Amino acid sequence: MDKLSQFEETIPSCRLCPRLVTFREKVVPKPKFEDETYWRKPVPGFGDTKGWLLILGLAPAPHGGNRTGRLFTGDLSAKFLINALYETGFANQRTSEYRNDGLILTGCFMTAVVKCVPPNNKPLPKEVLVCSSTYLHKEISLLKNLKAVLCLGHLAYDAYFSYMRTIGEFKKVPFKFGLKVSFDAYPKLYASYHPSPQNTNTGKLKSEDFIHLLERIKSDRKTLI
Ligand code: SF4
Repeated sequence: MDKLSQFEETIPSCRLCPRLVTFREKVVPKPKFEDETYWRKPVPGFGDTKGWLLILGLAPAPHGGNRTGRLFTGDLSAKFLINALYETGFANQRTSEYRNDGLILTGCFMTAVVKCVPPNNKPLPKEVLVCSSTYLHKEISLLKNLKAVLCLGHLAYDAYFSYMRTIGEFKKVPFKFGLKVSFDAYPKLYASYHPSPQNTNTGKLKSEDFIHLLERIKSDRKTLI
């Protein structure tokens, strides 16, 4: 097992944020999932630990990752994202329904800024700081082939900039869909809206635009340092 895989195995036992520990353990199951045993623990990263693209989300969803134990699994965000990854050759199947469903990612690894489901999808600044400095920064350092990071939403974008500012004095650029930011010899940042239903159902984030962005990142790959 490689170092990143070993590190991911340490994450589900974390209890550093009391508010999130309480919340994740008390999420009331949706009626259609009431026969299932919810995961209710921190959700580690998932995918190709030798990948060159990191897809960075906000946090597990209450009935997605917090139920299934795998990021972007079992909800509408997963449906949107994994279909796009399949269309662009990063995933071997269109669906992500539950752990051990056969999904394999190639070339990309997914993780979240905050590993526990937060109330109203809004982690507190101190929770973002604690979780990202304890886990995300280490995950990034263990992705040895990393060339690009796709941030899903403002919070992931801000968290990645915070990480880069622990490395150097980089000027922050305002968030915009499709934005590409260079950090000298470090991995490039790309920005997208988060594929949550509030963005995909309203047309703010369209499947074709997201697939086009993934294709652009892939075609940039040869030029990425
Ligand atoms: S959010 Fe992160 S740091 Fe906080 S309890 Fe969950 S895994 Fe631990």
